[in-house]
Amino acid sequence: MAQNMLPTETQILIVGAGPTGLAAAISLICNGVEPYNITIVDCLEKGANTSRAIGIHAATLEALDTYGCASRLVNLGIKGQAWRVASRSSTIFQANFESNSPYTEYPFVLILEQTATEHVLEERLEELGVEVKRPWRVVGMKDSGDCRGMDVTFESGETVRTKYVIGADGARSAVRQLSGINFADPDGKSIDDSIDDRVAQMVLADVSISLSEEQSAVLASGVSITVSDSGMFVLIPLGKPSVSELLYNSSEAVYRVGFSVPRALGEPPSKPSLEYIQSNLDRQAPFALCSDPKLNPDPVRITKVYWSTRFRTHSALADVFFKRVHGGFVFLVGDAAHVHSPAGGQGMNLGLRDAAGLGPILAEHSIRTRERQKLHASDGRDADPEVDTTALEIYAASRRKRGLDTIRLTKNFLSVINFVLKPRLLNWPLWIMTFFSHISMIKSRLVYRLSGLGNR
Ligand SMILES: Cc1cc2nc3c(=O)[nH]c(=O)nc-3n(C[C@H](O)[C@H](O)[C@H](O)COP(=O)(O)OP(=O)(O)OC[C@H]3O[C@@H](n4cnc5c(N)ncnc54)[C@H](O)[C@@H]3O)c2cc1C
Repeated sequence: MAQNMLPTETQILIVGAGPTGLAAAISLICNGVEPYNITIVDCLEKGANTSRAIGIHAATLEALDTYGCASRLVNLGIKGQAWRVASRSSTIFQANFESNSPYTEYPFVLILEQTATEHVLEERLEELGVEVKRPWRVVGMKDSGDCRGMDVTFESGETVRTKYVIGADGARSAVRQLSGINFADPDGKSIDDSIDDRVAQMVLADVSISLSEEQSAVLASGVSITVSDSGMFVLIPLGKPSVSELLYNSSEAVYRVGFSVPRALGEPPSKPSLEYIQSNLDRQAPFALCSDPKLNPDPVRITKVYWSTRFRTHSALADVFFKRVHGGFVFLVGDAAHVHSPAGGQGMNLGLRDAAGLGPILAEHSIRTRERQKLHASDGRDADPEVDTTALEIYAASRRKRGLDTIRLTKNFLSVINFVLKPRLLNWPLWIMTFFSHISMIKSRLVYRLSGLGNR
């Protein structure tokens, strides 16, 4: 069979080869599932996905370490040391990941673009003997009619019979919809109202900036969030020159910038231009990054935009992460199961940990099912034997709880940002935040939560 052809039958079908789907395949193989029992498909051609997440936290690196991926990622990225909240002129609050040292061998947030992370995971999967099949789009699921699972259908008309489907197909998951699983804000809000108006629309871009070496060195230490009356601005340096080269063929340092656009200002363009980004940067960024000489005596400018996008954030959680569908089983992981604001950089991390932990449990279930199938076949029986699903159900419920906790964490985080953003006489929210910045227990607790160590 040609590498990219679909099989007529596979034991486990993974739909989606984003970070979560790739990690799920790796964790299954590392836990004993034979590569020929796994098929992973994606509707996009290789490399067609764009840069999105940029931070990998300690708990995720620990989970990936089990599967031989963590050191490769660490070699490519930058060890971000700090999480900084600032006004336009000075730092208000800085929490250092170093305070996680007693709990992890990764006391930093690894700054690495999602495309580079996917590249490392796909390379590892290929080493383990599985290639992603592309471009194949799942459009249907129906009962196989022989009590052996379900038939998954593709846009091009092909059908694959399978026992297990892992839905790793992102926020608009076809697998979730075809399984009839509801996806909604857990606090009962409408999807559009699930995030505060002022930070619900965001623009992200990867850019180069005309910074001196000294200025670059100051910015290289982690994630900086600037809050002002105009909104929220985020700046993150994106890795070593090798990563800039790999992604953008650029020898210059690349920065991820992000800023909120209040709904009152209308919708941002779908691919924001250099001018649009520069004018928002001048409106919201630290003065030291502005191009306006009235604001910055030593003006700096964006010199190149490599990638830019706008998006709206919302929170939603699938009602269940595991469901019997027709004669088979569906498991949702990653964005297919939970989405929330990117504040705190949690989305991809949570998905990677869903996938890393699913491996041992699903591998055991699928191997036992296979053994029983063989026994049944030798007895001349047709229908698949039933293998107890309790472990899968418990795992699914535990991951759902993690999803819910993370939605709450990001909502709380945004509430704090919004609180600081609101213009008030004497700016007392800023004072309160400055006061808290002197309490080291609050700062270490924040980085512990962000790093996922308390929510693996
Ligand atoms: C603009 C933006 C910025 C973000 N920033 C951050 C951040 O800073 N930090 C962070 O942690 N997270 C961030 N996220 C979230 C992060 O990107 C996601 O959490 C992460 O990509 C989820 O991975 P996934 O594998 O679950 O889904 P995805 O990455 O969405 O991958 C799903 C895959 O499934 C494929 N697919 C979809 N439908 C089908 C189908 N029917 N058949 C076959 N294949 C299909 C898609 O092509 C895709 O490759 C951001 C997201 C966006 C949109």
